Amino acid sequence: MLEARAAVKSLHAYRPPLAGRQGLRLDFNESTIGCSPRVLARLRLLDAEALARYPECEPVEREVAQFLGLDAAQVLLTNGVDDAIHLLCSTYLDPGDEAIIVVPTFAMYAIFAQAEGARLVQVFAGENFTFPLEGVLSRINPRTRLIAVANPNNPTGAAVACEVLLRIARAAPHAAVLVDEAYFEFHGETILNHTPWPINLFVARTSSKAYGLAGLRIGILAGVAEQMAMVRRVASPYNVNAVALAVLPEALRDQAYVEHYVAEVQRSRGVLERELRTLGLHYWPSRANFVLVRVGPAHAEFVQALRARAILVRDRNTDPGCEGCVRLTVGSEEHTRTLIGALRDVVEQLKQHREVKA
Ligand code: PMP
Repeated sequence: MLEARAAVKSLHAYRPPLAGRQGLRLDFNESTIGCSPRVLARLRLLDAEALARYPECEPVEREVAQFLGLDAAQVLLTNGVDDAIHLLCSTYLDPGDEAIIVVPTFAMYAIFAQAEGARLVQVFAGENFTFPLEGVLSRINPRTRLIAVANPNNPTGAAVACEVLLRIARAAPHAAVLVDEAYFEFHGETILNHTPWPINLFVARTSSKAYGLAGLRIGILAGVAEQMAMVRRVASPYNVNAVALAVLPEALRDQAYVEHYVAEVQRSRGVLERELRTLGLHYWPSRANFVLVRVGPAHAEFVQALRARAILVRDRNTDPGCEGCVRLTVGSEEHTRTLIGALRDVVEQLKQHREVKA
């Protein structure tokens, strides 16, 4: 009988709740306004010829490298950051190797690392989700081959100083250290600007968040050229589709659009955080386009009550250290006003049932 590898059979199936997403989507940290109109205009220019050919990534990789101030050999375009994580795991992890993650965090590091047969080493964040530097350093050993950190982190919104990440990279020269900057634009600090760049450091970026292109599936993995040459060996030459390659340069060129949206999200995040204080809900200050809120035992009713008002948010109750927590994506000011209106009703409704923690 055909059997999947033991490492795959022991994986938990990860199914993000994608079904029936009608309404205001504040559940996946997408942009709530979508991409630049210039991107859509470029998309409309695509013809049958553009789709008939195999995609050619090199010219776009050169443009992206220039945008980031890197050499083309340091950049690999990927099918979203998910693909970048997968490629790093395939390149560096053998069965029995160790992969360190700081939890709670984004689910895909654990999935792809465990799929390679690696052992997952979970270091718990400190109080209020502070970064556990000493904890991470103490778990590094000769078997450590991957350390993945989202900065800012998902679902907490917490950020860690680049110097801390550089210390980790220097302490584990035999491990690939991935700094996942999926939410970089909302935070504004990047490890890319730090030189000299440790040879084991990789940085990932995505067009899924600030650029409003989650459906397009395009991400960026950057690292030193010699290591990127290894990662390229396991990547499909066509991992990024022709449509994504055609529009990414236009998306990068329209920085004004992204900057405008990011500034709006940052204002909107401040408004939402103030409202959460008024409502007496505990939250963790965020550096990204979402806020983690502790609702308490009524978390599921809270999510349901918002859904009944056509607003989708994400229950994070089962994430380590996130009991009773819900993650709210922050979008445009208008969308945040809609969320706040609904939050007031829902908190009132649940308080009457004495279910909300506030
Ligand atoms: N990294 C983090 C930290 C994320 O939160 C997400 C999306 N939720 C991703 C990566 C996935 O990004 P992409 O859409 O580029 O695969």
